[in-house]
Amino acid sequence: MKTYFLPAVFIASAVAAPSVRAQIAVPSNVPSVRAALDVLKADNAWTLQQQIELTQIPSPPFKETTRAAEYQRRLAALGLRNVHIDSVGNVIAERPGTGNGPTVVLAGHLDTVFPQGTNVTVHRNGSTISAPGIGDDDRGLAVVLAVARAFQKSGVKTTGTVYFIGDVGEEGAGNLRGMRYLFGKEMKGKIDYFISVDDAGLGIASGAVGSNRYHVTYKGPGGHSYGAFGIPNPIHALGRAIAGIADIQVPTSPKTTFNVGMIQGGTSVNSISGSASMDIDMRSPDAKSLATVNDKIIRILHQALQAENARWTGPRAAAAKLTMTIDTIGIRPTGAQSDKAPIVQTALAAAHTLGFTTRTGASSTDANIPISLGIPGIRIGGGGEERGAHSLGESYVETPNSYLGPQWAALIVAALAGAR
Ligand SMILES: [Zn+2]
Repeated sequence: MKTYFLPAVFIASAVAAPSVRAQIAVPSNVPSVRAALDVLKADNAWTLQQQIELTQIPSPPFKETTRAAEYQRRLAALGLRNVHIDSVGNVIAERPGTGNGPTVVLAGHLDTVFPQGTNVTVHRNGSTISAPGIGDDDRGLAVVLAVARAFQKSGVKTTGTVYFIGDVGEEGAGNLRGMRYLFGKEMKGKIDYFISVDDAGLGIASGAVGSNRYHVTYKGPGGHSYGAFGIPNPIHALGRAIAGIADIQVPTSPKTTFNVGMIQGGTSVNSISGSASMDIDMRSPDAKSLATVNDKIIRILHQALQAENARWTGPRAAAAKLTMTIDTIGIRPTGAQSDKAPIVQTALAAAHTLGFTTRTGASSTDANIPISLGIPGIRIGGGGEERGAHSLGESYVETPNSYLGPQWAALIVAALAGAR
């Protein structure tokens, strides 16, 4: 996951305690909820142990099955109901409600960004625990397990059903496929509130940064740089496109961005290349701004093709016209969700109850899918601290109050699902 704390205009800053007026009461006085919070604090070492053990089961993109099977086993061992793996690989466990309260999902993602063969052995140096994936998102997976266990141990009763989920495909290439399937098929129309525990810390993301990513290729016959001179050149077309993209104006608020992140092409200095390609990424928390920058980029891509083809004339050039293909790498939808939304206010009030303040931001996570569908969704941190997410040197730092992450998740879920 990635979180972006945006300028003050876009986000609500730290919320002062008395001004928080949760539309949903935080049930911190309910004895079983109190007991669950105590369990999470007392059994903090158990949570960390889950985190370490899960990290050492490799879970590359599209290859989450081994970790998923183990996660299913651990959820089932807690006595949850109907623990199963759906058609795309999400692990889903049910904790039935006592009435017709809201259905709440608490999820962490099973996938990592690391390819098969990456060494995922955990190294511990005092409170610093290192291994690829240890924070993002084995912290989230451990927190989901810990909350489920604490609810079971303490006999927390909720009117709504709570689903504890380990999902697939959150990272880049996965393109949120686990969430797309969960909200589009598996549990379509059934989820009232969605909370993703992604990464460490105590941040909250209430907005969804949408992104469009494309792989663009210009192609032609190519030839000798001297002998075939006078035909359209794919690398030159790519250069025209990049120059155009580089000059695009975007709003600073809502923060909207574009980037040509990779370029490929060419075989030698004295060859007209047969192809040239690039990877483009654009992002915004605002759907309209994202669509605007997207339209500009698509227009520039076509203009660059036309300009390069028009640059050269004569029969040889006419027979060597370039073509262009635009392949989608990924599309992450955005959506509007106010910080006044009950789910956000509940999370802020729960933080206050636990004695800390946090601030909202926008992120690109599993919560993008519900938010884009108008279903209340947030991403929260799982406590402790994260260092170097998505790098081989990734670390999780166990802080003295790291149990606040699981407690926060538990209190939000208890509030939304109607604990009593
Ligand atoms: Zn993540």
